[in-house]
Amino acid sequence: MAFKLKEIIRPNVAAMKPYSSARNEFQGEASIFLDANENPWNLPYNRYPDPLQRELKERISTLKDIAPEHIFLGNGSDEPIDLLIRAFCEPGQDHIVTITPSYGMYEVAADTNNVKCVKVLLDNDFDLNAEALLEAVDAQTKLVYLCSPNNPSGNLLNREEIYKVLKYFPGIVVVDEAYIDFASAPSFLTHLLSFPNLVVLQTLSKAWGAAAIRLGMAFASEEIIGVLNKIKYPYNINQLTQEYALRVLSEAEQMQRQVKCIVEERERLAGLFRQPPFSYKVYPSEANFLLVEVGDADGMYSGLIREGVVVRNRNRIALCSGCLRITIGTPEENDRLITKMKGLLR
Ligand code: PMP
Repeated sequence: MAFKLKEIIRPNVAAMKPYSSARNEFQGEASIFLDANENPWNLPYNRYPDPLQRELKERISTLKDIAPEHIFLGNGSDEPIDLLIRAFCEPGQDHIVTITPSYGMYEVAADTNNVKCVKVLLDNDFDLNAEALLEAVDAQTKLVYLCSPNNPSGNLLNREEIYKVLKYFPGIVVVDEAYIDFASAPSFLTHLLSFPNLVVLQTLSKAWGAAAIRLGMAFASEEIIGVLNKIKYPYNINQLTQEYALRVLSEAEQMQRQVKCIVEERERLAGLFRQPPFSYKVYPSEANFLLVEVGDADGMYSGLIREGVVVRNRNRIALCSGCLRITIGTPEENDRLITKMKGLLR
């Protein structure tokens, strides 16, 4: 089935005129700026930032080998997750389909917009079955949200199944790759040109170590990026974030070193948890966390809290009964975690 953006965009979004800011209307150099009602002192933070973040997109474009026209930057990936629903789903009428268990914001963004969220259960190994997912799709489904590596299970969804969804679903397929830098498989970014309905989400919040600055990236066709730009807040990425992101992205080697350490530590911890005295089931992870079936998850969770260690209790999440989700820390933090968990076994 061919993807046609015109057929799925909300008619009001297709018809509307976007806000045009002072920085949209004039982008060149000038000696005196009297067009944006800014305070003339306190340079450079008295000025509005670049609404389209050109310099930052150039840097990301080089890094990812993708033209800037295919890049949208948001206030975390959470912004494009929400904007896509607002652009394509008519409240009270349209649906999204996602997987469960997965990242909670797809459903929250749908709920906020009065858009029904249909959740398709993964199998017991947290694998995706494209047929089951496509069965949950109906004429009202505009968006499918997938997450790979998936949170909280940590596994990559089967590539072939994702291709099937991209091929047979006539709406937009979002592949959230927040954790892709920790994975052994390549990103879906190289498929942007083959699938006009693909949106790939990545973020500076995980491997790049910059969750505080809130910078998420959405990669898609120029047409889809154009729709997101049309409805975003004019200055959605502030100047401090744009500057710090440029700095962070110039330190790719440091990021790679940290990722290598986190991946080694992930495997070390998985090995320790699988052995006595724990003998826990540890789900294979391609992310910076482990899903560990500890049995009495509530007891272990509160025991760790008393010891000053906070993990995520996933005991009440679909398919995660008895499980904790444990983020990989520094080697020292991980050693202390192991010692404290051993102490709680007795
Ligand atoms: N996607 C997934 C799968 C996540 O786990 C998270 C954060 N927990 C996000 C997106 C949010 O990322 P950001 O900080 O870029 O909003």
